[in-house]
Amino acid sequence: MVHVVVVGAGLGGLRTVEFLRAAGFSGRISLVGDEAHEPYDRPPLSKQILAGTWPEERAALHRGELADLGVTVHLGRSAIGLDGDAVELDDGSQLRYDTLVVATGVRPRRLPGQPDHPELHVLRTLEDCRALRGSISRARSLLVVGAGFIGAEVAATARVAGLEVTMLEALPVPFARVLGEQMGLLCARLQTDNGVTVRCGVRLVDFVVDDGGGIAALLADGSVVAADCGVVGVGTVIDCGWLAGLGVSTEGGLLCDTTGLVEGTGNVYGVGDIAAWRHPTYGDRLRIEHWTSATEQAAVVAQHVAGAEVTRLADAVPYFWSDQYGLTLQLIGRCDLATSVELLHDPGMIKGTVAGYFADGALVAVLAFHAPRLLNRYRRLVAAGASEQEVRSAATELASR
Ligand SMILES: Cc1cc2nc3c(=O)[nH]c(=O)nc-3n(C[C@H](O)[C@H](O)[C@H](O)COP(=O)(O)OP(=O)(O)OC[C@H]3O[C@@H](n4cnc5c(N)ncnc54)[C@H](O)[C@@H]3O)c2cc1C
Repeated sequence: MVHVVVVGAGLGGLRTVEFLRAAGFSGRISLVGDEAHEPYDRPPLSKQILAGTWPEERAALHRGELADLGVTVHLGRSAIGLDGDAVELDDGSQLRYDTLVVATGVRPRRLPGQPDHPELHVLRTLEDCRALRGSISRARSLLVVGAGFIGAEVAATARVAGLEVTMLEALPVPFARVLGEQMGLLCARLQTDNGVTVRCGVRLVDFVVDDGGGIAALLADGSVVAADCGVVGVGTVIDCGWLAGLGVSTEGGLLCDTTGLVEGTGNVYGVGDIAAWRHPTYGDRLRIEHWTSATEQAAVVAQHVAGAEVTRLADAVPYFWSDQYGLTLQLIGRCDLATSVELLHDPGMIKGTVAGYFADGALVAVLAFHAPRLLNRYRRLVAAGASEQEVRSAATELASR
């Protein structure tokens, strides 16, 4: 019987298994995950579960028993290498595969010299979340290093819990590289309006472990920022070392074609944060660390492997959301392609602001601050690369409703 081995029991791995069965695949499936838990969702780790408003069980990704999918699950087991067409596990066993799906995600990047200290955290796993939640519950102040989305969400959760929060960011404007300066400033304002101290353009030189048990950051200008606990959210790293046996370059992730097949292989696929797909809409290679991409890629890979019709829309555009202070920020498309940004809806406050990103006069992305209905209206226009004029008339029409 054909055997599909899926390595990585997170969002991409689990959805691949589910979509395989949904597409009628009747062969053997094995799912390998190095975490002890059944697959769970990560977005609540910086939001509801960190805040304590959801029980952990609510993050479970699969409703029902995994066994009902007819999958052999190896939890708490790492894939450590390949031996021909077999995956080597850390207990010495091997899983021979006909098709291998790699959905191993990414790991949080640590800063050089970042100490292992019980009050200094990164956030990727349920264990990370539990430890950070424990610190937040005891602390009066939090230091956030890195004003990216994870840092911003943790800052928001901690502020709502009543902590004093200081955010350190190396760039002059948070999110400037992703969202541009104008919208980056609005994201920073969302923090400062809610009482967070945001210090931009700073360089962290070292961490100092406080005698009282807290942590402090020493900055290049000689100042020290101390807090009871801290979190470092400075991006992610890829770990493809165990895939060296494939004999393909894994720099920048697993290089996949538009169906997820790792280029240079005939039976290995990449899904989710680890996978740099040649994007069907844009043509270039993109590694997208977004929830929706992992889900969509899992569907495409599963349908290919099962020999079923591929139902993914050809006009798929990346989608991301973030929840902060009761507002949902949503982004569709690609800001990185933009040469100009224009406010499409400007209610004079953060909530309801919608910005359009244009490249050579065509709409390439839309960012909305808690305007889901409007955002949905622009989805089709982003996919179609609508002209500035079309977008402006759509904005006028939507504003008049
Ligand atoms: C705190 C947090 C909040 C987020 N919030 C949002 C959000 O609001 N919106 C959004 O769009 N996205 C969000 N994301 C991103 C989203 O969760 C990821 O894009 C998604 O989880 C990617 O799925 P994945 O399957 O690629 O990786 P993962 O979900 O990370 O799963 C990979 C699994 O593989 C395991 N693994 C790694 N190496 C091995 C190995 N060698 N052997 C066996 N197992 C291995 C890992 O431990 C992990 O369990 C958030 C992420 C985090 C961490």
